[in-house]
Amino acid sequence: MRRLAATLALLSLTACIPSVQAPRGRPATAETPERFARCVAMMRAEGSKVEALPNRSFDNGCSATSAVKLVAIGIPVTNLGAVKCALAAPFARWVREDVPAQARRWLGGEVVRIESFGSFACRPVNNQTGNRLSEHGRANAIDIAAFRLRDGRVIRVRDGWNGADGDIRAFLRALHKAACARFGVVIGPDANAFHHDHFHFDMGGGPYCR
Ligand SMILES: [Zn+2]
Repeated sequence: MRRLAATLALLSLTACIPSVQAPRGRPATAETPERFARCVAMMRAEGSKVEALPNRSFDNGCSATSAVKLVAIGIPVTNLGAVKCALAAPFARWVREDVPAQARRWLGGEVVRIESFGSFACRPVNNQTGNRLSEHGRANAIDIAAFRLRDGRVIRVRDGWNGADGDIRAFLRALHKAACARFGVVIGPDANAFHHDHFHFDMGGGPYCR
């Protein structure tokens, strides 16, 4: 009995020691064909229809590796090209779980389409010459601009984030907050003027949530 108590004390002690974290910044896990295959299989097991894309690299430093095309993830998302599977998987969960839940809660409605500003784009951060390559240049970022509801309403980040309607403000903030639990980097209108009209999600570093 005393030994059991000692074991329990030891267990509760180790529970207080924070687990060793992988250094943030670049993803700690290298991309391998096996990891990619596992990611694709997991997405399909979760109900997503995805197409595995061949790896592509461009001589200007841009690339799309371990990427998928999102064919069906519960709600149609416009303008999406190649997306790294490591981003596509949490994105599909955000679309399938967070978006419907927050639309029901704050708007009493159902989102039937999500409008994006795209995923893959070979350009510098914030489209400013001289900046480092954006995660969009690695198919590792998605920009979300608006949500169309079944009743015809369109909720835009641009108009809604600081708009007059408190429920719309709450809806957008709830989705931004939910995104922070799923993605390494989330950038919205409160971060800077470049993001006044969309949410940017990427898995290139973080945690950053603004
Ligand atoms: Zn972006």
